[in-house]
Amino acid sequence: MSLDVHKIRNDFPILSQEVYKKPLVYFDNGATTQKPQIVIDEEIKVYSQENSNIHRGVHYLSEQLTQRYEDARKTVQSFINAEHNHEIVFTSGTTEAINLVAFSFGEQYVAEGDEIIVSTMEHHANIVPWQMLCDRKKAKLKIIPINDKGELLIDEYKKLISDKTKIVAVNHVSNVLGTVNDIKQIIDIAHKYDIPVLIDGAQSIQHEKVDVKEYDCDFFVFSGHKLYGPTGIGVLYGKEKWLNSIPPYKTGGEMIKKVSFEKTTFNELPFKFEAGTPNYTSAIGLAAAINYIDNIGLDNIALYEKELLDYATQKLGSIKGLNIIGTADNKVSVFSFDLENIHHYDAGMIIDKMGIAVRTGHHCAEPLMNRFNVEGTIRASFSFYNTKEEIDKLYDAILTVQQMFA
Ligand code: PMP
Repeated sequence: MSLDVHKIRNDFPILSQEVYKKPLVYFDNGATTQKPQIVIDEEIKVYSQENSNIHRGVHYLSEQLTQRYEDARKTVQSFINAEHNHEIVFTSGTTEAINLVAFSFGEQYVAEGDEIIVSTMEHHANIVPWQMLCDRKKAKLKIIPINDKGELLIDEYKKLISDKTKIVAVNHVSNVLGTVNDIKQIIDIAHKYDIPVLIDGAQSIQHEKVDVKEYDCDFFVFSGHKLYGPTGIGVLYGKEKWLNSIPPYKTGGEMIKKVSFEKTTFNELPFKFEAGTPNYTSAIGLAAAINYIDNIGLDNIALYEKELLDYATQKLGSIKGLNIIGTADNKVSVFSFDLENIHHYDAGMIIDKMGIAVRTGHHCAEPLMNRFNVEGTIRASFSFYNTKEEIDKLYDAILTVQQMFA
């Protein structure tokens, strides 16, 4: 192990607290990650020393903060290895970024009878915007099926592609199953037919090195708050040629070049997609989070989290009556399960009383729940600040739950 987890935990003030008089065990990292002090400090610094609306002022504070915001964009660009910094659009999160593409790409390129491909394992955020687009345009949504381990069926995906397919939108990593999809293969297949691909990276960006140039994806989206950064900030990466060819999503100040009552012309990239005052504080906070993660190293993080996942799979997987949901060959540290004859919600409530935060329910992936014939699951999602001792506590908590319902 090349990572000092006990030292790292000291960077996260929230982790040292107790809940119900027990040390907090935070296993809900798939929903949101905790923030290192350095990110919190960065936001405090903006508000206490630097605050001013950006891009429109000639005065000192405005110019300085505009520079910091644009530097944050460059930090994101280099983190995901994008070709140009104007290919990075700040949004409020993954959800807004997907809605932006579904609307703007849809307006330009999708017509009646066309088809859009998503997969069975998508988060609602990567289903509903496409569904609404299909309703507006009288287009059709096609679904890539999965096997019982929770892996995409690539041969079935190939069969779904036709000359009517306008875009493919799939996640990199499933928030429920932890499956890491082979997005390079998915993109290569689509590109043979000149079909663009959007990758929902909400659950991959915090676990492994993302390289949009290597994947050659057309759009890649993620949220800051799942990457140890602030809430209310996210990223849409789009290839220049696509961002230039689709209309704006939101309109108003900042995104225009010239406005008259007769005609409005739009600003250049990326401002065309950033109407209104942007969330500059959180963008700068996100850059601080990226620098923090880069310092630890995503390779070290991935290695350590794999250790945690293997430990949990072996230890928790040995519990009689516990079924793991999502057993893909390539997984990140997301561990979903159900307990025989015990409702996930009841189990989650009892586990919570032992100071352990897990998430229960459908995880905004109802079609996936239907595929596995369950109403919901219990999900423990591990971060590099978690420990094997904490997994032991979850093991004990699950045994207690089972005893209570025996
Ligand atoms: N996609 C996936 C795979 C997710 O896990 C999530 C968050 N649970 C989202 C999209 C939506 O992210 P946000 O709520 O930050 O917009």
